[in-house]
Amino acid sequence: MSDESSSIETIRAEVSAWLDENWSPVRPLKEWRETLVEGGWAAPTWPRAYYGRGFNETQAAAVQQVFAEKGAVGVAQAGPGRLASHTILTHGTDAQKRRYLRPILTGEEAWCQLFSEPGSGSDLAGLTTKAEKVGDRWIINGQKVWNTSAHHADFGILLARTNWDVPKHQGISYFLIDMRQAGVEVRPLKQMNGHASFNEVFMSDAEVLAEDLLGAEGEGWSIAATTLSLERQAFGSDRSGGAAKDLEGPIYDEYRAELAIALEPYTWYPQRAGRADLLLKRAEGNGAISDPLVRQEIARALCLKKGADLAAAAAVAKRRSGKHRVIPEGSIGKLAASEIARQAAHAHTLISGADALLAGANSELDGIVAEVLLSVPAISIAGGTDEIQKNIISERVLGLPKEPRFDTGPFRDVPRNIKDA
Ligand SMILES: Cc1cc2nc3c(=O)[nH]c(=O)nc-3n(C[C@H](O)[C@H](O)[C@H](O)COP(=O)(O)OP(=O)(O)OC[C@H]3O[C@@H](n4cnc5c(N)ncnc54)[C@H](O)[C@@H]3O)c2cc1C
Repeated sequence: MSDESSSIETIRAEVSAWLDENWSPVRPLKEWRETLVEGGWAAPTWPRAYYGRGFNETQAAAVQQVFAEKGAVGVAQAGPGRLASHTILTHGTDAQKRRYLRPILTGEEAWCQLFSEPGSGSDLAGLTTKAEKVGDRWIINGQKVWNTSAHHADFGILLARTNWDVPKHQGISYFLIDMRQAGVEVRPLKQMNGHASFNEVFMSDAEVLAEDLLGAEGEGWSIAATTLSLERQAFGSDRSGGAAKDLEGPIYDEYRAELAIALEPYTWYPQRAGRADLLLKRAEGNGAISDPLVRQEIARALCLKKGADLAAAAAVAKRRSGKHRVIPEGSIGKLAASEIARQAAHAHTLISGADALLAGANSELDGIVAEVLLSVPAISIAGGTDEIQKNIISERVLGLPKEPRFDTGPFRDVPRNIKDA
């Protein structure tokens, strides 16, 4: 019987029996995760050779459900590590998979994503960080920016240019870089909402071993597509840490401590989504609900949210069916998230007027509304801006004519307004 054909009841019974035998809330977290990885229940959708079962998403959801029912802690909440692990799983050599996947699952190694540059965000393929092969290693020089969690990352997934004489998409390679080396300097950035989730990363003669090139030289752009499509799919994903974080026991204390570090850059993410969930309660609380204009704007935000939730559920069902490998809902859902966030922020300001800007302990909801207003702009930028999502939808989904291009020749000859590294 293939892994994909195992029934949900069989899977539930199997994982349940395995947890009864192995799970205990008094085990140290690291030791438990080793058992989880060895047992093949760490990443059920991954192949058996790499800590999984080869399950489809419906089967994996059944496994997760049993873990939740038994209060069992799962793998580390990886953030950018999730992007790294899926990309390595898809494109890596056996040696790369053996070296890097396991410590991501156990939480022993954290990752960051080193894609954007000061002159290359939307136009990511115009990046100018340079990688030169010298003997058995690559020497990296350049600057990255907006790198979430880089301040506590052990490794980074890095895009760098290895060939300047071919069109821009063809000269990029994908590297796995050690962040704990002298040639890598990480500088945190302070945001207008008071948090510091991002960093600038400067690489000065940083080194990457030849064996840490992912895929072939020059294949970086197509490999990056794997990372970026996963990033868009995961856009609204739950970063709370699941039910296990609220339970009592030594392993849960360790898990909470791990989550506090891993999820710290994301504490404001619910606010950047607009907090439509707070609108009705706030409007009823201060009487603004009796204003028909306020009611209309709240209704608009809530209808948009409901529509997007239903579309997201349909997209999950499509993916789980396994029949659709590429679906446009990632870009559409991301665009909808921006619209909802902006509309919710607008309704929040109608509810309390200028008071919505008050921050600090004595403000309404501890300054949550002000944080919403200061965080919402991020949602239409992160993971590809609204305009870029519209380009993707129009060109790849609707088949409309492509944007005019003036950069199809050798990258060396493409006009740029930034000095190359
Ligand atoms: C919360 C958050 C987290 C992030 N995390 C990471 C991370 O971990 N790692 C990482 O590498 N990066 C990260 N980023 C960076 C992010 O990917 C970039 O900010 C994004 O791709 C936009 O690039 P840019 O900021 O350079 O804007 P630009 O590309 O300079 O865009 C400026 C404006 O021009 C518009 N524009 C650009 N090109 C076109 C076009 N062809 N057609 C129409 N309009 C266009 C854009 O839509 C935008 O409005 C993060 C950003 C945010 C906000």
